[in-house]
Amino acid sequence: MKAISVCGFHHTGKTGVCEALISGLVKRGERVASIKDIHYEKFSMEKPGSNSDRHYQAGAEPVFARGIDETDLIWRRQLTFNEMITHIDADWLIVEGMHELAMPRIICGATTDDLEKLNDSTVFAVSGKYADEHDIYGELPVISALNEPERLVDLVLARGFAVLPQVDPECCSHCGMSCHEFVGAVLRGERQRAECVAENLGKVRVWQDEQEMKLVPFVQNILHDSIEALLKNLKGYKTGRIRIEYDNSRD
Ligand code: SF4
Repeated sequence: MKAISVCGFHHTGKTGVCEALISGLVKRGERVASIKDIHYEKFSMEKPGSNSDRHYQAGAEPVFARGIDETDLIWRRQLTFNEMITHIDADWLIVEGMHELAMPRIICGATTDDLEKLNDSTVFAVSGKYADEHDIYGELPVISALNEPERLVDLVLARGFAVLPQVDPECCSHCGMSCHEFVGAVLRGERQRAECVAENLGKVRVWQDEQEMKLVPFVQNILHDSIEALLKNLKGYKTGRIRIEYDNSRD
């Protein structure tokens, strides 16, 4: 799944940019999912005291609230990005907010001062309010989602790439840099997305309910060494591909 994010200040057109991208990508036959990061402290899709809320209060998590025209899956905590994407099956993911993610970004601001604060090596375009009123900002393409939505979609299709594992530099720097720096290197054409080796170091792979978990090399190495130390003592152990099934539902 490829992804880009749209980041910027309040009331500078981020949601309009996301709308234009989502509808433009869908028109081109792509399956699109989105994440909207919400900072309103009292935000909740759930009504206190509703029947589904009562399930939750009784200890269920997550809770499916299944209606006729809508189904919501509710956790009462903030999920991490990597937790959220295990529930998404799409060609493209458009994220509004979450500027901390290592992925190609479009920035939205009202002024050049805003853009200065937002710009870094992960940015590949300017849109939103500034782009509705200007057409130049340094070397970056400045594209209004209102006036040139198709050009913006073309650029996203050209610059977006598959979601990176989003790991701390202390856990993985196998590409020689952090995930953020790697995004910048890919956008500059110095590296290719396939050079993120974390997903290719598959000495140990783990699936839960058919969904493969992403293991950074640090975790892979711990699992590999622990499993090897135990299995080596078993009669019949030999080098090769070994399958282990682990069922924690019987604990
Ligand atoms: S190898 Fe991949 S996961 Fe590891 S730091 Fe580089 S980009 Fe991130």
